[in-house]
Formats: sequence, structure tokens, C-alpha cells
Amino acid sequence: MPEFAQLRDRMVEIQLARRGIRDRRVLDAMAQVPRERFVESGFEEFAYEDGALPIANEQTISQPYIVALMAEAAELKPEHKLLEIGTGSGYAAAVASRLVRTVHTVERHTDLAKIAAERLTAVGYDNCVVHNGDGSGGLPEEAPFDAILVAAGSPTVPDALKGQLAVGGRLVIPIGDFEHEQSLLRVTRRSDTAYDEETFGAVRFVPLIGEHGWAEDGTRSA
Ligand code: SAM
Repeated sequence: MPEFAQLRDRMVEIQLARRGIRDRRVLDAMAQVPRERFVESGFEEFAYEDGALPIANEQTISQPYIVALMAEAAELKPEHKLLEIGTGSGYAAAVASRLVRTVHTVERHTDLAKIAAERLTAVGYDNCVVHNGDGSGGLPEEAPFDAILVAAGSPTVPDALKGQLAVGGRLVIPIGDFEHEQSLLRVTRRSDTAYDEETFGAVRFVPLIGEHGWAEDGTRSA
């Protein structure tokens, strides 16, 4: 079996660069972060496969390509302060932490938040702060953010998140059905009141459950 570092390099070339990820900093971060440290125990050998993998609480660690696509779409810079909603395994937060100054990441499941925080500490990524709670309304006490990445599908773009973007900041969020297909949307704040929207194709995420997302039974809560 090849070493993880070799599998990682191959993943970056085949799954990311050949599919059109161009941002050199994103490719370098993906080549650096040990995904095998963020999968569930026993899944290490699948860490560099081209897909999402199951984690606790019926959640998933996102497909590497989607993590890279969202990071690229957010146009991250070293001085940025970033908010991620949906910490899950902590992997995407780990990648983002190589690209920006500070990452705040919010997870609604207490045990996932705890494990992700431990993993991030264990790999030495100390510019990530993990928060436990409903992130569908953002993290007002830390706003504004240069970028917000939402790693769960929402019925609509929560106004609370748009309002926590700095002017010039970008929100990347999957919008659509509860458990089917969503469209990956980038919302850029142009001024205090003006926002642009662009789509980045079809994606499939677990639902954003919370006050500004879905109710647990799949009805809209916002
Ligand atoms: N970024 C993660 C990773 O790299 O492993 C993958 C995230 S997983 C696709 C989506 C996560 O969003 C789940 O862990 C889920 O519990 C979480 N989630 C769903 N609704 C949430 C909410 N309102 N606030 C915070 N986390 C939420």
C-alpha cells in the first residue's frame, strides 16, 4: 500500500487539478493536510478515495474535490477571518486553516465538535476555534467574516449569514432540497446592501438543521 503522502499527491493531481481546481494555495493545502487523521478509525485506507465518507451521528466528511471547490470559490487570502458552518470531522476547517489567518467553525453535534477540536489540536492547527451549537444564524459575536463556508444544505440563503460578511466577503453555500441535490451558490457582498450571486454546479450535502435552515423532519424552520 502506498504511503499516505503519495496517495495525497495523487488525489491532488487526479481528483483536483485535472478537474479544474487552479488555485495553487488550495492545491498546496490539500497536499498538506492529512485526511487520514480526520476519517473514522478503520477508514484510513479510504481517506484518499474520491468521495464523502461516513462519520459519527450519521454525518459525512466531505469529498476532497468539494472541499477544494468551496475553498477556491471563497478566494481565501492569508489575512482572512473565516467562518465554517458544519465542522463535521474538522477536515475542511483544517484545510481552510492553511489558507487564512483564523477559522471559526461551528458544529451542532457536541461529540463531533469535541472530536474535531481534539484532532485539530493533535495535528497542530492552532488557528481554528471550534464552537458547539446551531451555526445556521452564523456567529454574530465574531463577525464580520471575509468568507463563510456552509458545509450543509440550506433551503434558502440565511439573511443572518449575508449580514455577517465583510464588504467584499464571500459566502459559499449549498441551496436546495432537504436530502437530494443542491446548487452550490456563491454570494459576494458588494456594499452594505448589495449582493451578487453565482452558481457553481450541483452538489449533495446533508441538511443544515437549525433556526435558519431546516427543521429535523425536513420542513423549513426559517
Ligand atoms: N466540513 C465537514 C468535514 O470536513 O468533515 C463536513 C461537514 S458535514 C457534510 C455537515 C455537518 O454540518 C455535519 O457534521 C452536521 O452535523 C453539521 N450541521 C448541520 N446543521 C448544522 C447547524 N445548524 N449548525 C452547525 N452544524 C450543522
